[in-house]
Formats: sequence, structure tokens, C-alpha cells
Amino acid sequence: MEFKQFNVNKLMYVTNRPEIVFTEGSGMWLTDHTGKRYLDYLQGWAVNVLGHSPQCIQDALIAQAKKIINPSPAFYNAPSIELANLLTANSVFDRVFFANSGAEANEGAIKLARKWGKLNKNSKGEDRFEIITFDHGFHGRTIATMSASGKPGWDTMYAPQVPGFPKADLNDLASVERLISDKTVAVMLEPVQGEGGVIPATREFMQGLRRLTKNTNLLLIVDEVQSGMGRTGELFAYQLSGIEPDIMTLAKGIGGGVPLAALLAREEIACFEPGEQGGTYNGNPLMAAVGIAVINKLLKPEFLPSVRDKAAHLSAGLIKLSDKHGMEGERGEGLLRALKLGRDIGPQIVDIARDMNPVGLLLNSPRPNLLRFMPALNVSIAELDQMLEMLDGILVKLAQ
Ligand code: PLP
Repeated sequence: MEFKQFNVNKLMYVTNRPEIVFTEGSGMWLTDHTGKRYLDYLQGWAVNVLGHSPQCIQDALIAQAKKIINPSPAFYNAPSIELANLLTANSVFDRVFFANSGAEANEGAIKLARKWGKLNKNSKGEDRFEIITFDHGFHGRTIATMSASGKPGWDTMYAPQVPGFPKADLNDLASVERLISDKTVAVMLEPVQGEGGVIPATREFMQGLRRLTKNTNLLLIVDEVQSGMGRTGELFAYQLSGIEPDIMTLAKGIGGGVPLAALLAREEIACFEPGEQGGTYNGNPLMAAVGIAVINKLLKPEFLPSVRDKAAHLSAGLIKLSDKHGMEGERGEGLLRALKLGRDIGPQIVDIARDMNPVGLLLNSPRPNLLRFMPALNVSIAELDQMLEMLDGILVKLAQ
């Protein structure tokens, strides 16, 4: 089938897409409408932690669809209860609210913090509502989560913003301290800024932030939409710094490709009253069944050590490429890594890699001088080497 036979113009135009329609996916591989195969280092935007269409997700969807798809959020269902128990048993949190996207989970976190700020007022008896977030942070595309994000240009795109999100600088504790006022209720950050260019918060900064927020009676919210669910080699990235946050949000990896997200909180923070939070699809058993299948794979004793091994292999390979081609090194945590190109050639590399034949390579350039790698967590060493070799070939050609 040819691309022009697809009537793509009926889709609302929100982004520039290449003239490719993906029809099949398996593990690290995608196949397009012409039968061409691509080695996929986007994986649904860091979503497919077990690769494309893994057997366990297929099985979970089919088995659950045969039982019950959605009894409504007004009733309990067994998969959401089981998944909430798995998540709390393997984290520092006690309560879970399920959502359908990272933005929605973060909206929930913002609401929960503001509710807590009504219950825990300042010394003047006023509600606290301000949440300190970070320049270059990314928390989603709803109006409130865009306001919480520090993406350049987003402050005016749909102005006016939701007020109450002053921006600090990542890894600069003094910049957070300066923004604390009697209106502040929380600090919210990504333990690794993903869309901002794969910038990890340092262990020292996370520990300092935990100390500061404890001393000033503020909540610490970690947005682990991208960094959670094994991506960094730990189940959750906050574990890398040995701290205990108050609220965490998850999406992307928890659904392994399907729309599933979660808002987690410690018991004393989980202060919603009936009617204050909800949603038609929230905690539906079909998606929750997938979440159970995914987390059970991640909890196998050999899984996270293998993520760490592959991350070390990828990191070493990227450093080798950087040295060979005179670049500026690499950074990241686990299997969320970036190659610092030193020049604004990222978008050009992405296009060349995708259009290579007979096999294409899908890469991402969140900033023009960076390439980001977010493979499936069960990527093989051979698939890492294949990508590194293809990228090397592109860099050699570009230097000619
Ligand atoms: N938070 C972080 C850290 C993200 O990386 C993203 C998406 O990239 C989001 C929130 C938004 O998630 P979603 O696109 O599922 O709404």
C-alpha cells in the first residue's frame, strides 16, 4: 500500500509526522506500511518497557477483556485492587489513584497537594497552594500541567496560565529556597528531566530537597512518569537517592504501551474526600490487568539487574562514539540516556537514521544538540550494538 492511499488529512494537524504508517511491532522492532523494518529507540516515547506487543500484555488484555472491561469507577474491581497492592508493597507509598495519562496523574498530584494545603494552612490561617517546579521540567499538556512545566514558550501559548507554579533551577537548592513563601505547599520535580534533555537530579540535590521540604513542612512530589517503572535500573528513580517522597506519579512504563497512570501518596497525605477526584476510565480493570502483567515482569529478580547491565553497555558504547567523533560525552540514568553531540545535528541524524535502508533506526532529539535513547528495558545487547553501529555509520558520513 502506498502512503497517499491513507487519508491522513482527516486527523487534526498537531505535529509534523513522516510519511510512514506503522502497522506492526514486536520487541525492539516496528514494521511500516511498505514492509520496511525499523529498530525503535523511541518505544512509544519511553512507554513500551517490555517492547512492542509483548506476549504478557497480549495475554492480559485478552484474558481480562473476556472477563470484564469496565464496571465503572463507582465499584471495586479485582485488577485495580491487585495493582494498587503491588505498587504500595514495592514503594514507600500507601494509597493509589489510577489515571489514564501522565498529565492526568500530575493534575491529581497538584489537586492533592492543594487539598493538603487547605488542611495544613500557613501561620496566618490561609490556604497554601503554590507548588515550586523547575525550569525545563515537563509535566504534561493540560493547562495546569503546562503551567507546572518549565518548557520555553509554554507560559504564553495558552495564556493565562494557572497561577501558583514558580520555577526553580534543577540541582540548585538555593534557587528552591528563595521561592519558598507562606503560600508554598510543595516542590514537584522529575528525578530525571526527560523532555528537558535527560538531566538527572543529583543524589545530593534530591537529599537536600527532602531535608528542605521536611524542615519547611512542604510536600515533595516526584513525577516519575518517564523515570519510573524500571527505566533507571531501580523500580523508581527516587530510590537512586535513598529518599522517601510524599507523592509520586507514574504513567508511560506502568502500562507498557496502554493508557494507564497512577498517583501514589503516603497515608497521611491521601486526603481526598469523596467527590473530589475521579474519572470514568480511572482504575478500569482492562488497563489495570496490563499494569499487573508489566510490574510482575519488572519484579522478577533478574530483571532490574539486567537493565543496569544493558545501561552500562549503552553508556560505554555512547562514550566510545563520543570519543571517536569528538563529541561531548553522554549522560542519563539506566536506559534513559542522551548523547551530547556538541553541535546542532540532532534533527538531521534523526531524519537520516529513519530513512536508512533496508533497515531504519528511530531516534529522538529532544534538543538539537542531543540524541535521547529510551529503548525497551528488555532490549538485547545485540540490538544495542546494532544501533551503535548504525549511528556510527551516520556520524562517519556526516563528517565527510
Ligand atoms: N511527566 C513527564 C515526566 C513526562 O515525560 C510526560 C510525557 O512525556 C508527562 C508527564 C505527560 O505524560 P502524558 O503524555 O502521558 O500525559
